[in-house]
Amino acid sequence: MSAIVISGKELAKEKRLKMKQQVDILKQKGVTPGLAVILVGEDPASQSYVRAKKRACEETGIHSDLDEVPSSISEKELLDKIIKLNKSDHIHGILVQLPLPEHISEKKVIETIDPDKDVDGFHPINIGRMMTGQEAFLPCTPFGIVEMIKSKNIDIEGKHVVIVGRSNIVGKPVGQLLLNENATVTYCHSRTKNMAEYTRSADILVVAVGKPHFIDETHIKDGAVVIDVGVNRNDEGKLIGDVVYDRAKEVASYITPVPGGVGPMTITMLLHNTVVSAAKRSRE
Ligand code: NAP
Repeated sequence: MSAIVISGKELAKEKRLKMKQQVDILKQKGVTPGLAVILVGEDPASQSYVRAKKRACEETGIHSDLDEVPSSISEKELLDKIIKLNKSDHIHGILVQLPLPEHISEKKVIETIDPDKDVDGFHPINIGRMMTGQEAFLPCTPFGIVEMIKSKNIDIEGKHVVIVGRSNIVGKPVGQLLLNENATVTYCHSRTKNMAEYTRSADILVVAVGKPHFIDETHIKDGAVVIDVGVNRNDEGKLIGDVVYDRAKEVASYITPVPGGVGPMTITMLLHNTVVSAAKRSRE
């Protein structure tokens, strides 16, 4: 058996085309969705993520403002920039690329962003709303994962979902979103004993660890759905996931590739949140 590939790249393309039409309609009503991105410092990975986000905005017709500031910026100066963006009528989404330099509190930065413009879904108010099943900006990577599973009409209700990784931006919220879809959720992390016993009982296995080829076919039940969130570089500089794709593909029923899997969906859900935010403003 060889698994069906859930291509995030293809799904993202489809969704962005539809989104472009929504953006055109909003523009006809006089509202151009706007995303403000602040990049602090010159971390090459962050620069490349931010560039990809800007490119995706341009392709979809979303206005994007990129503010690149030196890592010497003070916390107060950064918070003042956010406060100004909170008040701007042209900006519907605000994203501060993480990580930040040590002298700036990520917590303060996230909590200064207006929850109604928090298109990354990191603000505690949005997290609380998500936890309690209220309308919220959902964090983009977990949101994208759920969309990928749903795109193949895979039943989530009653399924055993095992998440490897419990970070605040991926592991924890993806488990919560799948719980909201009536899955039974188990979390594994660095202190979990006999991890393979859990992963082998998963109907849907989500791996977000950040360790190349951490999961292979011996961790996977026959016919399981495997979502690989990991982004790692091998010795040749090639992008690889947390899952040994070629071997896992032989036991899984569905699998996401790296690259071309979860990554493109993360950006797509960021665009989606920005368009939703602009649409809300247009109705106010
Ligand atoms: P993170 O904050 O470093 O969290 C890693 C998680 O893995 C932690 O919960 C950790 O457990 C767990 N872990 C570490 N070693 C383990 C072990 N031996 N057994 C079981 N669990 C273990 O990472 P993250 O931000 O969630 O990101 C995970 C990966 O996804 C990275 O490769 C990242 O680049 C990628 N990512 C991709 C996207 C995308 O859009 N494609 C978005 C975000 C992240 P403890 O909590 O116990 O330490």
